[in-house]
Amino acid sequence: MGEEEQTTSYSFSTRAIHAGQDPEPTTGAVVTPISLSTTFAQDGVGGHKGFEYSRSGNPTRTALETQVASLEEAAHGLAFASGLAAEDNILRLLRPGQRILLGNDAYGGTFRLIAKVWSPLGFPWSAVDLTDLDALRADWPDDVGMVWLETPTNPLLTCFDIEAITAIAHEREAIVVVDNTFATPYLQQPLTLGADIVVHSATKYLGGHSDVVGGFVAVNDNELADRLRFTQNAAGAIPAPFDCYMVLRGVKTLAVRMERHCQNARAIVDLLVGHPAIERVLYPQLPDHPGHAAAAKQMRDFGGMVSFTVAAGQEAAMTVADSSEIFTLAESLGAVESLIEHPGAMTHASAAGSPLEVPDNLVRLSVGIEDAADLVADIEQALDRI
Ligand code: PLP
Repeated sequence: MGEEEQTTSYSFSTRAIHAGQDPEPTTGAVVTPISLSTTFAQDGVGGHKGFEYSRSGNPTRTALETQVASLEEAAHGLAFASGLAAEDNILRLLRPGQRILLGNDAYGGTFRLIAKVWSPLGFPWSAVDLTDLDALRADWPDDVGMVWLETPTNPLLTCFDIEAITAIAHEREAIVVVDNTFATPYLQQPLTLGADIVVHSATKYLGGHSDVVGGFVAVNDNELADRLRFTQNAAGAIPAPFDCYMVLRGVKTLAVRMERHCQNARAIVDLLVGHPAIERVLYPQLPDHPGHAAAAKQMRDFGGMVSFTVAAGQEAAMTVADSSEIFTLAESLGAVESLIEHPGAMTHASAAGSPLEVPDNLVRLSVGIEDAADLVADIEQALDRI
């Protein structure tokens, strides 16, 4: 696939399988080789074929970077060793004293990186309700350098209006980072809505099989890309070629997996809405969900994550999380198998006592691509155990 087709002519599913993945020219191998070489022969000093040393660039990584950049409608893609390594690389764009505005619901590890690693180094941060655009305009601190939002958020699945927030931030010369981990480029493409930077935990839906940790950054702006790539090489938080291959392989099936994740999530939501054990169901498709209008506007479908609060409180929520048979009690999300967790005690424990603390009766489901009826029956029997 030529360079132009990688971003333009072909549709999403075709690009997922072909962008950056032309057959290998010397052997014709259809599957992208895992290039383990750390160094590349030069025909005379400086006469390399695009690769010199694998931290700076590696053919398997380039294939992945081309593939996912194409799906995000981005001119540039950069792969990292983990989602947090990708986030850390982005935060290095800031100058000391520049503030990070973080949505008031986000992955606990993102909160920890910003509040516990970057803030003590002289980068102030505040948590804001990004659904309240009037308050955002009115209370905008002078020193903001970056707005950081997840949409849908982890774990409350709140959705934020990317286009509206970006307009407000750009008027005030701040850059906008969207963590697109929950939506994936199949459901939402933040760069097309004006955002400056997209970040992923590739460990989740991009990899899709709970067998690789990775991160990804996509941008259109050439100057931002140069600065990010400089730090990617200079700080060196790069993924191994094998890990790049695993994510590349996962992404080939992203579209079909996401369709099934969304369908199965809807079946679970149908069970939960109106169930006597449930206090509140959190799913962006529900009309009363925070940010439903934004989700309906900017997403193709509403995703595979479902959260809910249990009417009988924390202990009952823990019982539900402990009682499923197909849904495995485990952290992480976005893979073919269904997972269940208690965010307050697990993924979001680091946010306890902060503005990002989550309700203690909250349960989060990553709905997999197993048979929908089996998944519904499993959650039903877990709720019966309360
Ligand atoms: N962003 C979101 C929304 C996440 O859920 C996670 C991890 O759960 C991360 C970023 C961090 O990614 P990683 O675990 O790959 O470092």
